[in-house]
Amino acid sequence: MRIEHDVSLRQKNTFGIEAKAESLVLFEQNTDAEIESLFQQVQHIPTLILGGGSNVVFTSATIPLVLQHSGQKIEVAKRDDNTVLVTADAGWDMDCLVQHCISNGWYGLENLSAIPGTVGASVVQNVGAYGVEAKDVVHSVDVVDLQCREVLHMTNAECQFGYRDSLFKHFPNRFFVLRVAFLLSTHFHPCLDYKALQTRFERRENSSISATEMRSEICNLRWSKLPRPEENGSAGSFFKNPVISKADFVALGSRFANIPGHEVDTMVKVPAAWLIEYCGWKGRSMGRAAVWPKQPLVIYNTGNCSGKEVRALAESIQQDVFNTFGIALQTEAMFV
Ligand SMILES: Cc1cc2nc3c(=O)[nH]c(=O)nc-3n(C[C@H](O)[C@H](O)[C@H](O)COP(=O)(O)OP(=O)(O)OC[C@H]3O[C@@H](n4cnc5c(N)ncnc54)[C@H](O)[C@@H]3O)c2cc1C
Repeated sequence: MRIEHDVSLRQKNTFGIEAKAESLVLFEQNTDAEIESLFQQVQHIPTLILGGGSNVVFTSATIPLVLQHSGQKIEVAKRDDNTVLVTADAGWDMDCLVQHCISNGWYGLENLSAIPGTVGASVVQNVGAYGVEAKDVVHSVDVVDLQCREVLHMTNAECQFGYRDSLFKHFPNRFFVLRVAFLLSTHFHPCLDYKALQTRFERRENSSISATEMRSEICNLRWSKLPRPEENGSAGSFFKNPVISKADFVALGSRFANIPGHEVDTMVKVPAAWLIEYCGWKGRSMGRAAVWPKQPLVIYNTGNCSGKEVRALAESIQQDVFNTFGIALQTEAMFV
């Protein structure tokens, strides 16, 4: 474990916003000795557990105590003819893990290709894209409960995954993810639930599609709509898609004839991008923060923008959407 002081976090968040960590604790290995030394060094819940910084917006100039996992261990815990249990340290880059698994013939993560960030955050956020969510492949998670000072092994069910949600999100910075076990298949079955993927592979037998081809198609789809973090700072989709009752959806439909939505159990999920675009925000800016012209769910940094400017723009969008539709948009990104 290493501890650094007065560390600039500008390179450690995809928005590229400046903030300073008074102390940055870099946790390197999931050993008993390192966990013991973590308990000695971190007496209270840290101000922030940071992964790759791709879903945070810094609004404070200084953050007292930042804890980050930088471990890079991966191993096969178990395998049989059909499945493989792969455990990866929380510090692994999620997209490197996807690539690594495909190269080894371990399948299930392909649709999560090119999501920025770490393995640890992928379970906190229950990341999802193109018809697959982390919860579909997570077997179990090892965490340190920094409040009770103990190590816990949690099953998929115990993580209480939901739409971009998990138990960990409800106790910010209390549970430090150490490693995640993914249950993957040794046979590739493409997941084509997402409409654009169905269209792309329309005339193909599933058995003729390879995981590498799927990954490359997903990367193309992703970067045709979203800003690449190395070119334009952002946190990806800034807002969650709201989920409303069927009755509310029908009522809205009588006022907004084209409002889209799809049923999820007894509720209806409405695309936040449509609501934001309807309110005229697509491509608009406020200060140095702006709405991405190709995808209105994304707020981006037009150059040297502050977290406060991002927050002001996000709040204006939320206000307009609420005034127009009576829907309170929730942010997916987290303000620190
Ligand atoms: C261009 C772009 C595209 C994106 N596309 C998608 C997408 O398609 N789908 C999607 O779901 N998300 C997407 N995101 C959002 C982001 O990639 C995910 O939320 C990702 O999981 C964040 O990972 P991170 O390591 O950067 O976490 P951070 O932003 O550093 O942290 C996110 C949260 O996780 C917590 N956390 C991080 N590491 C740990 C740990 N080891 N233990 C406990 N808590 C931890 C933090 O405290 C924080 O609450 C996108 C972001 C960008 C910039």
